[in-house]
Amino acid sequence: MNTEKTTLMKGVSGVRGVVGETLTPELISRLGTAFGTYLNGGRVVIARDTRVSGIMLKYSVLGGLLSTGCEVIDLDIVPTPTCSLMVRELKAQGAIIITGSHNPVEWNALKFLKNGGLFINAEESKRLFDIFDRGNFKKVRWNGLRTVKEDSSGLAKHLKALLANIDVKLIRKQKFKVVIDSCNGAGSIVTPLLLKELGCKVFPLDCVPNGLFPHNPEPIYVNLRELCGKVKAVGADAGFAQDSDADRLAIVDADGSYIGEEYSVSLAADYLLKNTRNAAVVVNMSTSMAMDDIAKRHGARLIRTKVGEVHVAERMLKEKALIGGEGNGGVMWPKIHPVRDSLAGIALTLQNMADNKKSLKKLAGEIPRYFLVKEKIICTPENILPVMAGVKKIYAKDKVETVDGITITRNGVRMSIRPSNTEPILRIFVESKDLKISETIALDLKIVLAGLIKRSGN
Ligand code: MG
Repeated sequence: MNTEKTTLMKGVSGVRGVVGETLTPELISRLGTAFGTYLNGGRVVIARDTRVSGIMLKYSVLGGLLSTGCEVIDLDIVPTPTCSLMVRELKAQGAIIITGSHNPVEWNALKFLKNGGLFINAEESKRLFDIFDRGNFKKVRWNGLRTVKEDSSGLAKHLKALLANIDVKLIRKQKFKVVIDSCNGAGSIVTPLLLKELGCKVFPLDCVPNGLFPHNPEPIYVNLRELCGKVKAVGADAGFAQDSDADRLAIVDADGSYIGEEYSVSLAADYLLKNTRNAAVVVNMSTSMAMDDIAKRHGARLIRTKVGEVHVAERMLKEKALIGGEGNGGVMWPKIHPVRDSLAGIALTLQNMADNKKSLKKLAGEIPRYFLVKEKIICTPENILPVMAGVKKIYAKDKVETVDGITITRNGVRMSIRPSNTEPILRIFVESKDLKISETIALDLKIVLAGLIKRSGN
């Protein structure tokens, strides 16, 4: 297990690796056994995206889960938000989702959910990996083994939940033309179905759930040129793109312009907050300052958490938030469930257009525009603490937040410095209303950090 352990990439809510290199059946089976032990048996849901490697991982994880006495309910290919909904629906103890999410096709990963359909948090993850490392697994004898049941009702239940909370009649009247790029991922079947239910004329682009990705599944501009072109070519009102497990959403306007992942949550929040005063909105520290402006505009409370979906989700529940999410295309609408759900994002976007009788371009134009510039600098782990302390000292007169790394707000410019979880680097994010200012400050900050790193001299 040693080589596998060293090459395994562990995050808060799961593990990921390259299939045929680090993600071996032995490792996956052991993770399944560890998760079954962690849950102490009980009902567990499993789901996957469309990746070709998904089948191999699924059968590897199944043996492990069953060996601990778990009853497994197999949803097979469904979006991550559908699986989350089904954990609640089936009153399961947890779930394993096999998905490489936005990562390229050679990757795959396991994500772990707990009861209620939320991702496991850092503490729970630590307990799970302690079990994984120690290997003292729960074992049951032949008469304690349970079965695997297939359940194909997930997509219908997810659709039903969405349609019950959306003004279907209002959207239907508009007869929107929509292009949907599901990247041949887990959203391929259910998303065109949702759009048809909403009375849209649907132009599916890469909606064959075969796991052969026509482009990198991360819904960022460079991967979505074909979608942009098709929106324009067919004269659509909107284009939507999902990653391979359909939790992230990016939007394209009628001109075929990519309006950016940041706008998925901004537009949804701007729309929902209009009719509610004193609502709570939760986003992570990396989400655009546009969210601060939107919250202010509608008299809402904006709460920021550490990066990581589970942090946003747990805080949303605590604050009874109306809406929240992440700037990476993650729309979290707790009325459905507090997880990133591209389908909820699509439904809210169309309702926003129908309700306000405005084009996407017009609606996006009402969202304050910010320019985010990203830089990075090499910094060894020993240098992180002294460097961060130095940063705090230099900017002591400004607004300094330490929710996740250090975030400094000064004259309408937001600067974030965060150590990477996977590489020996510091990530630098600078956001302002002027691209030139963001670029200049990012470079200045990099020079300041270089000086501090040199001085700490480890
Ligand atoms: Mg994803």
